Amino acid sequence: MLIDFVPTVSGVSLAEAPGFLKAPGGAPANVAIAIARLGGKAAFVGKLGDDEFGHMLAGILKENGVVADGITFDQGARTALAFVTLRADGEREFMFYRNPSADMLLKPEELNLELIRSAKVFHYGSISLIVEPCRSAHLKAMEVAKDAGCLLSYDPNLRLPLWPSAEEARKQILSIWEKADLIKVSDDELKFLTENDKVDDAAALSLWHPNLKLLLVTLGEHGSRYYTKNFHGSVDAFHVKTVDTTGAGDSFVGSLLSKIVDDQSILEDEARLRTVLTYSNACGAITTTKKGAIPALPNDEDVLALIRG
Ligand code: ADP
Repeated sequence: MLIDFVPTVSGVSLAEAPGFLKAPGGAPANVAIAIARLGGKAAFVGKLGDDEFGHMLAGILKENGVVADGITFDQGARTALAFVTLRADGEREFMFYRNPSADMLLKPEELNLELIRSAKVFHYGSISLIVEPCRSAHLKAMEVAKDAGCLLSYDPNLRLPLWPSAEEARKQILSIWEKADLIKVSDDELKFLTENDKVDDAAALSLWHPNLKLLLVTLGEHGSRYYTKNFHGSVDAFHVKTVDTTGAGDSFVGSLLSKIVDDQSILEDEARLRTVLTYSNACGAITTTKKGAIPALPNDEDVLALIRG
């Protein structure tokens, strides 16, 4: 859901919103559709409410070619809603309806284990790490994926107000971090996790762990940085007319996963990785040029057109 709100003028927030946009989203759904829209194969695992919004999201996943066999519907709880206030400069503020929402009620026994085991990459980007029963379900899904030999990709998607405390958020995020093969964090998440305002190589490498294959730090209009065991560097962003940054990170990570799923040797070859990250930066940039997340995710043609200039 996206609410289009008025800009703040001289520190005073005007009371009237110039518009309202009802848009499907949520980080894991965004990533799945980002992959599918670029021609990759993706499946979504999770729980939705048996309500208008749940069926809308399931329908949009299917329309975009995402395998929906991992979706269950909760008969009692409603689908989670995010109310996003969009400022004129493209920055956003989030408010959530999760009371509890259906996604928080996913039980371990409701997971489609066959589907999870059939994947080559398992991307985890949920914000519900602290709530039972979904916490146990999420941990089980990751364990099953790892045991089946999937590459585990992680985006913490920190939404601090949803956590009981900053310490708890840091502890839980770092516990998943240690299991992940590939991690994407934003500059703000890196600052939060390192408890330091610097976003530099030392900060990123302070969170390195021996089993990690790729750490990515996204920097909005400043592009992205990459770190592997053998090399690190940065890739510039594309200049675009940004109207809403919602979903840029999901578009970035989804496009990367779509490229490495069939050829993980890219992670060991800096030149090829840089080519892929240029593509992912272009995906992120295009996603900021339209309102909402899913409606703004590009297809391959859009991305190649931006790269060619
Ligand atoms: P997140 O949504 O996780 O905070 P970012 O906002 O950093 O992630 O966006 C992910 C990627 O999308 C960036 O690394 C960059 O390549 C691209 N991107 C994001 N915002 C812009 C922008 N304003 N201009 C150009 N590219 C952008």
